Parts: sequence; structure tokens; C-alpha cells
Amino acid sequence: MNAGTPLPCVALLSEVLDLGYLANAFRKEFPGIDLRMGNDVASLGPVEDVDVAVCWFPPHGLLAQLPKLALIQSLAAGIDHIAADADLPRDLPLCRIVDTTMAAGMKAYVSWAVVQQHRGMAAYVASSAAGRWEEQPVVSPRHHRVGIAGLGTLGMACAEALATIGYQVRGWSRSAKTDLPEGVQSFHGDDQLGDFLGGCDTLVCLLPLTAQTHGFLNASLFAQLPRGAHLINVGRGDHLVEADLLAALQSGQLSGATLDAFSVEPLPADHAFWREPRILITPHISTRTDPAVIAQQTLSNLAALRQGERPRNLVDMARGY
Ligand code: NAP
Repeated sequence: MNAGTPLPCVALLSEVLDLGYLANAFRKEFPGIDLRMGNDVASLGPVEDVDVAVCWFPPHGLLAQLPKLALIQSLAAGIDHIAADADLPRDLPLCRIVDTTMAAGMKAYVSWAVVQQHRGMAAYVASSAAGRWEEQPVVSPRHHRVGIAGLGTLGMACAEALATIGYQVRGWSRSAKTDLPEGVQSFHGDDQLGDFLGGCDTLVCLLPLTAQTHGFLNASLFAQLPRGAHLINVGRGDHLVEADLLAALQSGQLSGATLDAFSVEPLPADHAFWREPRILITPHISTRTDPAVIAQQTLSNLAALRQGERPRNLVDMARGY
């Protein structure tokens, strides 16, 4: 931003996280910036100044009370945590973060999650700790089929990484894809979902959470996977019907699940998932967004809007992602 740019007023809004960790990145991008934090109108200070709200689970109803608000910026790839606000001012531009460092983190996590299950790494952790030399079956990646539900920015990056390792990779999306990484097969739409699922030894969920994808990972879907398939959920907790997962693991339809997102976070201490040894839990850490990237994309989106231009990574509210 140049010296003549009006001072932006940015509100950092979250009911579940202290967003103070973003303050330095915003100050570095725009020294003197007016930064606000709070969960209601009283704690935010004069709300008529606020130009932008940077959000992760913002308090419901608060965005509608910011009269000058020009931009709602998700600090993540998903926007479900904002769209859930019944009072969301839906006419305002809502943008999400799309970023190569976020994609790199997701590629690393998903590749690890596929390999640890496919190569039986949990057994090596146990045998190593017990001082035992014990081989697990070695199956070449080219005999293991990985399917990615959601072949968007992150799904495509993961598909490319897994295909480079040598896995048989397929993806499923809403619309047909033409420009695919080498070796990646694509399926689209509800008509092709069954064919897609039938060839997934590992299924990765990288869908956005929308009205259409809520509860996507359910008993009927699990029944269409090859017996003994492995599930990786790096989408959102509400993609998964939890009781259906437990039943599919108990019946052997699924052999394991690696889960990074949950309907309630932190996952409660008494949750049944903690006691199911075939579920590997990580606490929503598959990837992170660099604070500098959040600050840069937020401020450049505000600058674009002030110049009458389209901001980057604008969400299509009719589509829901
Ligand atoms: P994206 O670029 O918007 O891609 C979404 C993909 O899902 C697209 O391929 C889209 O199809 C497909 N899709 C959406 N609705 C569908 C439907 N009803 N049926 C079939 N396919 C559908 O999103 P992204 O940046 O890759 O991020 C995906 C999601 O990952 C985020 O929304 C977020 O929930 C999750 N995420 C989780 C973490 C974590 O830490 N666990 C971190 C980052 C992101 P089209 O290509 O045809 O549009």
C-alpha cells in the first residue's frame, strides 16, 4: 500500500481463537493500521470505522452490525464458519485464502496419512518400541488407489503429489476437469460418484462444507468403497456421520480412519473416537496459513475493492464455496 492509501480499519473476529497472533503481520504490512479485536460491538470500539472483518468462527450477528464493512475475509480456505451466521450480510464480498504454503502443508499431511496407513507404519512404531524386527507386507504404491473427493485448489495439489509418489490417483468434483496432472483420473457429479468410490483404497475428503456436502461421509458412501478402505478426513467434521464411521470400522468395511477435523473441536475427552484404535486423530493441524499471507491478501483485497476491482478468491455465495 502506498502512503496516500487511507488507513484501513481491520477487525479480527473469532469466538474460538485468539487472533492476536495476526496483529504483527498486519502492522508489518501497514504500519499504523487500525486493528480491532472483540466479540461484540462494545468491545470493538467505534464500529462505524471497520472496513474489513478477518474471520474464523466470528460471533453470529456481529458482521451485520458493522455499517461501513466493505469486505469479509476468511483467514482459511473454507468459509463455512462464516456462512453459518444467519445474519451474514450476504451482499458483501466474502473472500477466502488461497495460498501455496497452505497447499504445501496439505500435500505433506495427506501424503503422510496415505503412506502411514498403506505401509502399516503404526505396526512399525509398536515393533520398534518393543525391539522387534518385524516386516509388514510391502505393497507398491502403484497397486494402491487413492481417491480425492474435492478436486479444487488443495485436492488437485494433493492429487499431483500422490501421483508423483506413484499412487493410482483419482479425483471427484462437481464439474468436469480437463487440465489434470499426469496420471490423475477424474470423475464428476453425482452420476459418477459410485464409479469413483469403487476404486478408492484410500478416500481423502477435501470438499468444502456446504448444504450439499454435509454428512457426505456416511454409511451409504462407505458401503460403495472397496472393503477395508482407509478414510482420511481433512475437510470439516460435519462432512462425517460419526456413528456411521464407528459402525463401518467395527464391521470391517473400513480398516482405519485418519481424522483432522471434527464437528466439535477440541474433540471432547469422552468422545468414542479416542477409544477406537483404528482412528488416528490429529487436532486440526493438517495445514496452516501464514499470517503474512492473510494480512497481504486481506489488504490487497480491500485495495482492489476501493479501486472498484474484483478482489481475489471471491466466494460464490450461490454455490456455497
Ligand atoms: P476449492 O478450491 O473451493 O475446491 C473445492 C472442491 O470441491 C472443488 O473441486 C469442487 O468442485 C468440489 N466440490 C464442491 N462441492 C461439491 C459437490 N457438491 N460435489 C462434488 N464436488 C464438490 O477448495 P480448497 O481450497 O481445495 O479447500 C477445500 C476444503 O478443504 C476447504 O473448504 C476446507 O473445508 C478444507 N480445509 C481443511 C483444512 C484443515 O486444516 N483440515 C485446511 C484447509 C482447507 P468444482 O471443482 O467443480 O468446483
